Amino acid sequence: MARILVVEDEDHIARGLQFNLEAEGHEVTLEASGSGASERLESADAGWDLVILDLMLPGMSGFEVARRARAAGTLIPILILTAKDDTRDLVRGLEEGGDDYLTKPFELDELLARVRGLLRRRRWDGAESPSLFPREVWIGESQVHFDRFEIDTPRGKISLTTREAGLLRALVAREGEAVTRGELLEEVWGLRPDTRTRVVDSFVVRLRRYLERDPSHPRHIVSVRGHGYRFLR
Ligand code: CA
Repeated sequence: MARILVVEDEDHIARGLQFNLEAEGHEVTLEASGSGASERLESADAGWDLVILDLMLPGMSGFEVARRARAAGTLIPILILTAKDDTRDLVRGLEEGGDDYLTKPFELDELLARVRGLLRRRRWDGAESPSLFPREVWIGESQVHFDRFEIDTPRGKISLTTREAGLLRALVAREGEAVTRGELLEEVWGLRPDTRTRVVDSFVVRLRRYLERDPSHPRHIVSVRGHGYRFLR
């Protein structure tokens, strides 16, 4: 059971999401406005496990809700909803802090799969054989537990979202190699490698904040100019 905040101004979509998520055993709260969503996310004791966030909202947009949540240090997984084929919106939604996306109209199975993916914390579900991949890795002073989606850092425990863990895993798997943004976009987000986006870079900023002693002088996830990133343990 998870506590899910659904931010959607179209009533029939909101009710449909609520019905199906409750049928899966989750506790669902509906919110139709961006400013309301922002307030709910900022209240410290809310305890949300997941936010489903429509981007096109009256007043404060979903982009702004995501941006504020991330700026406030919120680590809750965010699943963004976008209109079909609007790649620019989808990419911007990911850049502002979304972890995954779903285009409307969506199939119920697809929605539930995305929700399960973002809520999953106990088991890695990577496409490659998990047994060949280390479940735990030391990176500097921090220990990453891929099986639990957690990092033990000297400053405390951090929970990773599915996409954060996926990106870190993709980098660790090719330790020492320069990996292009396009390869990471395709492998981690399932986007075309030529999609014009800074989403990889914004996720790298997040990972550096978790792992680097000084995120402005990274030693573990280093930039390779004009190419992408290289991971060094
Ligand atoms: Ca809308």
